[in-house]
Amino acid sequence: MSSHTVNASIITIGDELLIGQTIDTNSAFIAQELNKIGIWVHRRLAVGDVYEDIRKALDEEGKQSGIIIITGGLGPTADDITKPLLCDYFGGKMVINEQVLAHIKYLFEKVYNRTGPMLESNLKQAEVPDTCEVLHNARGTAPGMWFKKQNTQTTLPSMGIEGSSVYISLPGVPHEMKGLMTDQVIPRLLKAFSLPAIVHRTAFTAGQGESLLAEILKPFETSLPRQIKLAYLPNYGMVKLRLTARGNNREELEKEATPYFEQLQLLVKDYLVSDEDEGLETVIGKLLKEKGLTMGTAESCTGGYIAHLITSIPGSSAYYKGSIISYANEIKTGILGVQPSTLASVGAVSEETVTEMVKGAIETLQVDIAVATSGIMGPDGGTPEKPVGTVWIAAGNKDKTATLQLKLRFDRQRNIDLAAVNALNFLRKFILANS
Ligand code: AMP
Ligand code: MG
Repeated sequence: MSSHTVNASIITIGDELLIGQTIDTNSAFIAQELNKIGIWVHRRLAVGDVYEDIRKALDEEGKQSGIIIITGGLGPTADDITKPLLCDYFGGKMVINEQVLAHIKYLFEKVYNRTGPMLESNLKQAEVPDTCEVLHNARGTAPGMWFKKQNTQTTLPSMGIEGSSVYISLPGVPHEMKGLMTDQVIPRLLKAFSLPAIVHRTAFTAGQGESLLAEILKPFETSLPRQIKLAYLPNYGMVKLRLTARGNNREELEKEATPYFEQLQLLVKDYLVSDEDEGLETVIGKLLKEKGLTMGTAESCTGGYIAHLITSIPGSSAYYKGSIISYANEIKTGILGVQPSTLASVGAVSEETVTEMVKGAIETLQVDIAVATSGIMGPDGGTPEKPVGTVWIAAGNKDKTATLQLKLRFDRQRNIDLAAVNALNFLRKFILANS
């Protein structure tokens, strides 16, 4: 079975998306999931809860795509018109689906612990057009729906099997949509379409910007064969470098991509954090577990954000003990033992202060390793000697402390993000060099 390119469109429905009240995160997730299995999303559009607009979007996307994924408008309220609209669009009539009904009853009684009779509007969620296949929504009441429609434009290379397009309608609630994509939609798409084999390899880097990495990787990029592509995916002080190989045979692609991936890692070895698609906090967790070390944080300008990032990793209790958010000077001196004379002579945002903060954290929290931050995040508080964006970071153990100064130049939120990412990367390097 040879594969060909299958195009997809994503239509997100909801007035809230158009007025900017809700950010359309659904499209991004769906696009990423489709991309992973070799489906090219060539168009995304958002429309309001307006009958004619939704119909028009379905018509237009159906002309160009083998797969059309729709989210939103499946709720029980009056503005949610997707379901009756799809029923009109694909023909057929609304019928109660017994499995969906049983699932809704189960959710109400056992999960939501509601008593009393169910509302008419909730029962309505068990109605589906009899022209669709129902996709079980384990996380909520509104089921997904899978429709097939013969396409008149069979000459387009983007069409699905037998010249028909599939239309998949999913709820707008992001975590329900995600469950349906992963459990139902992706496995079905893999069965229904003969997709190209696709292999992704991701190298995770930190501490170097995209443009400099691109400069280093220019000759490498030019040397890549046609079926292997390099993508730069930057995000807050980190850049993911992803190699994607496309072809017909997965095993062959794996073999082919491996030497290129090894070469890539070698070229960026100074900035390489991981050869997997994982963040700094995961990598630090793995390192600490491997070495049997515990850590803590003493955060001033990042206000506990580093602690949040570290504890967002499952199992972090094995190595992470806690944080002292020493925002005020009296906490720096009173709890962390920073010398008042240090604060008086060089100030809270200084190499000396973060060094003492690390020492204090190691002692107070009884940990092997600590990281500390102190900085001026803006928009106010800067001086000519210490402008907004000045940050000091220290990482240390009981024998040694290392420090780093940053000069950030962004708004407050971005400065906090970057200070945290840089602190984590500095901590990672400290652990590697000193334990
Ligand atoms: P609906 O299915 O239209 O009733 O939407 C249910 C909930 O999901 C609402 O809170 C929406 O704001 C949210 N939602 C709908 N579409 C999206 C989207 N494309 N991205 C993120 N959230 C969404
Ligand atoms: Mg809606």
